[in-house]
Amino acid sequence: MIDYNQFLATQAVELRPSGIRRFFDVASKMENVISLGVGEPDFVTPWAIRDMAIASIEDGFTSYTANPGLLELREEIANYMERKYHLSYQPENQIIVTIGASQALDTAFRSLLNPGEEVLIIEPAFVSYAALVTMAGGKPIPVSTWAENGFKVTAEQIEKAITARTKAILLCSPNNPTGAFLNKQDLSAIAEVVKKHNLIVVSDEIYAELTYDEDYDSIATLPGMYERTIVINGFSKAFAMTGWRLGYVCAPQPIIEVMLKIHQYTTMCAPHMLQHGAVEALRNGADQVEEMRKSYRRRRNYIVEALNQIGLNCHLPGGAFYVFPSIQNTGLTSEQFAEQLLMKERVAVVPGNAFGESGEGYIRCSYATSLQQLQEAIRRIEKFLQSLGASLKVCEHQVSL
Ligand code: PMP
Repeated sequence: MIDYNQFLATQAVELRPSGIRRFFDVASKMENVISLGVGEPDFVTPWAIRDMAIASIEDGFTSYTANPGLLELREEIANYMERKYHLSYQPENQIIVTIGASQALDTAFRSLLNPGEEVLIIEPAFVSYAALVTMAGGKPIPVSTWAENGFKVTAEQIEKAITARTKAILLCSPNNPTGAFLNKQDLSAIAEVVKKHNLIVVSDEIYAELTYDEDYDSIATLPGMYERTIVINGFSKAFAMTGWRLGYVCAPQPIIEVMLKIHQYTTMCAPHMLQHGAVEALRNGADQVEEMRKSYRRRRNYIVEALNQIGLNCHLPGGAFYVFPSIQNTGLTSEQFAEQLLMKERVAVVPGNAFGESGEGYIRCSYATSLQQLQEAIRRIEKFLQSLGASLKVCEHQVSL
């Protein structure tokens, strides 16, 4: 028997497997499961976008593109960033088209971090962040947020976590898994700390299109922040294009220059024909994005109210398509709750501790599924809560929608 650990890199072996996948591997083998688990839209990519990619294949666009992506697509990204977020990037040297936001994040950390340098990660956080920072040789430093504050991080919390080794802060608003949204005022306070301590921000803006109460502002628009922000975005969430694996990064030119070297050696370029689809998405997809956004908003309003009514205290998230209710009054851990709910009532949710220690006591439910399915899920969760015999009351802390 070969001990493969002798061949494998310790750092890679020691990575914690994603707490999301584990549950869904079990759930996928069961029948009649309602999944509020995986974070992806339930919509199929709008037809015009699909059609454009089909035409691209038919027309024989099967070669590599330029390393940073088709110039035509980078121009559309630049127009979109200007139009939507009032950010001005040069298509020639400030934008790279990547394999999802995931690759953009990975390349950003590899470009920024020397061994042992620290990145502040606001928790509960998307499962990939800490692993990506670690694999890039850096050290992820969690900064916990709390339900009492709608899971918003404050400038004071960030400042407290800064050390001489802190290089960057990773911000994700609207947030996965909590849906927390940082408005201009929140970001301004954080920006002051970033500038004071000479840090850089990696701003994961993948859910920027999906805000429900306030308009989105990128931290890069704040005074002195354009120079120190790497904006990460992509097509997965807003345009329902998760399987296309297309994202992009916009940043100051010296940063993009270094990122492009890594991108070139690891990836060469994003798939040619799919980039044509992305051009169509940015040129003509706004109406469909708006329709999907409105639909998510309706579902958010429904699920937040319903969860509070059946006794799970849930704050009103400002964006993305997740709710993060507390399950503390059941006396179960997040994992026990998720496991028992799946086994007894066949509803799949993600235990909050998959997103960091401060997620313990919560579960993540994605509402990117039909209203009908959500209603059935609520019915089953209520039945599960009743079976626990817990003294759950309608939450006193009602949210106003
Ligand atoms: N960032 C966040 C916060 C996410 O939730 C996700 C996907 N779940 C990603 C990045 C990765 O997105 P992509 O599909 O573009 O790689």
